Amino acid sequence: MSHSALGTPCSILALCSADHGWGYPDLDINQDEPFPKWGGICDNGRRQSPINLHVKGSLKGEFDALKFENYDEHQKSLQMVNNGHSIQLFGFAHDLTLSGGGLGSDYVVEQIHMHWWSEHTINDIRYPLEVHIVHRNKIYPNITMAANFDDGITVLAVLYHVSNTPNEAIGSIIKSLDAIKTYDHMNVPVNVEDSLAVDDLVPSVNTYFNYAGSLTTPTCAEAVTWIVLTDTHPVTLDQVNQFKEIEYNKDKQLHNNYRELQAENNRAVVLVQQRSGAAGLMSFSLMLLLLGVFSQKVLF
Ligand SMILES: [Zn+2]
Repeated sequence: MSHSALGTPCSILALCSADHGWGYPDLDINQDEPFPKWGGICDNGRRQSPINLHVKGSLKGEFDALKFENYDEHQKSLQMVNNGHSIQLFGFAHDLTLSGGGLGSDYVVEQIHMHWWSEHTINDIRYPLEVHIVHRNKIYPNITMAANFDDGITVLAVLYHVSNTPNEAIGSIIKSLDAIKTYDHMNVPVNVEDSLAVDDLVPSVNTYFNYAGSLTTPTCAEAVTWIVLTDTHPVTLDQVNQFKEIEYNKDKQLHNNYRELQAENNRAVVLVQQRSGAAGLMSFSLMLLLLGVFSQKVLF
C-alpha cells in the first residue's frame, strides 16, 4: 500500500503537499500501460468509481427536484491550484448548497476539479472532459471527516462533449491556467481572474444517473453519492488540450487523469427523471386555455 492511500485524501482537499505516491499511466506515451494499483480500498472495495453508465441497464427513478442555492452567484475571489493530479477551484464566497433529489440532507460545495478524459462513460462512450463539483454533507465538519461516512459526500459530475464552439465558463478557467501550469507552480494557488458562476458549468439537471460509489482518487473512500448528468456541455478539443499541458513533475505533463472503469458489482444505478414543476404549470395553463375555448363555444 502506498503511503498516500493511508493519508488524507489529498485531491479532495483545497491544498496538499507534493505527493508523488500515486498517479496515472501516461496514455499519450503508451496506450497499453497498465493502470497502477493504488492500494487499500482502491483495490478491494465493492462500490468503487467510476463505472460505465448504461441507459438500458438502469432502474428508472423519479425524485423531487434538486435544489441549488447560490450556484448563480458570480464568484469574485475564487482560487485555483494545480495539485499535480488535477486543476482545482476553491474559495467560494458563500455556501453553495445542494439539496432535494434523493439526498437526505444539505450538501455544500467544497471544491471543483476536472478530469481529462471523462471518468464515467455513458453507454460505453468516453467524453473529453468531466467536471466534478464535490459537496460535503453539512452534518460533518470537514471533508476528511465526511469521507468516513456512506452519506458524507455528493459529487455532481458534468460531462463535456466535443464541439467547435468554445465553452465560455471553461474559457474563464483556462485564462488563469498559464500561471499554474509548470511544476514550480504546483500547489501554489492563484486567483481566478474572470468572475465565474458555478451554474455556468452545469447544463440541465432534469435527467441524471444516481448511484453509490467512491472517490476516484486515493483514498478511494466509499462515501460518494454520484449524480452524473445525462445532458452534456460543449467544449473544444483545443480547450481540453490546455489542461493536458499542466505539469505534475519537472517537464512531465499530465496528459490524462482519469481512473479506469470499476466493477459495478450489482449496484443499483438509477436513471432519474426529475419531476418537472414547469411541466405541471404548463398543463395547468393548457387546461385553462382549453377551458376558455370550451366556454367560448358554449357562450357563442
Ligand atoms: Zn474527480
